[in-house]
Amino acid sequence: MISKKVLLGASLLTLFLTNGCVKLNCPLPGQLKTSVTQETLTSASDSYDIKQNNMSMGGLCASRVTFYEQGKKWNLILVRNTKQPNGPFWYLPHDNENTAYEAAVYAAKKYGGGFLALEANGKRYALGKDPNRNFKAGSAYTKNIFKIIDTFKPKSLPYLALHNNKNGHSRYGGEGTVSMKVSSAHTKSYPAGRIHSGGLHDEDNLVYLAERSLDRKKIQALTAKGVNVKFEVVSSKSNDNSMSNYIALHKNGSGYVNIEAQNGDIGTQKKMIDKVMKLIYQGDL
Ligand SMILES: [Zn+2]
Repeated sequence: MISKKVLLGASLLTLFLTNGCVKLNCPLPGQLKTSVTQETLTSASDSYDIKQNNMSMGGLCASRVTFYEQGKKWNLILVRNTKQPNGPFWYLPHDNENTAYEAAVYAAKKYGGGFLALEANGKRYALGKDPNRNFKAGSAYTKNIFKIIDTFKPKSLPYLALHNNKNGHSRYGGEGTVSMKVSSAHTKSYPAGRIHSGGLHDEDNLVYLAERSLDRKKIQALTAKGVNVKFEVVSSKSNDNSMSNYIALHKNGSGYVNIEAQNGDIGTQKKMIDKVMKLIYQGDL
């Protein structure tokens, strides 16, 4: 009779062989070496997110990159699909959004490319700032983040981001600050159907677009696939120094797509990645 221990060992081995572990410390392309520093990751446990996702990161290589802004050090994890380097490239500015990290691993393995994730000890803020409100024109932060992203992002693809939010909206007794049920002066909701709890139609699961003027074609392409959209019309007057605003104001025509899901809802975030990638490759986003 085969013991439970042997069975467990065999299934762990199968899991390892199918998925494998992450590779660490792949060398940076030469053009990045003048702007950012690569710091050695001593093991997967050196980064909470890599440790958490290690078993599903086979085929990916993770490196820590750092740079200084006004004497303060920013730390980021750069993850690349070394077998399929040409593909979408994602930015994850919020270290407390763990489902987004899991979704980025899924995307990098399935579609190639990679992602850049900011490290902030598992918190939203780093160095006293929201990393997604720090895209001021000409700052070291903005220059270095875009230098890294533009090194890996294919020119034909839009800038991509992954975020998570909390359940509901604080205005209606929920915990979050982003919801399909709430619009503001410059950001309007375009639901794909009736909003109800869970899955694509949940108020917290949505694709966030931001441009200088409303793009009804893109909204329509997403809602036709059952994906909720929030669209922000960006102007220099309402600039909030977020990545989306910076791209709309300074990288006109590149496009920005942020896939945002409720924290924990990995199934829906993956589904949205698949739908978005299909629309991008069809030329609809
Ligand atoms: Zn976020």
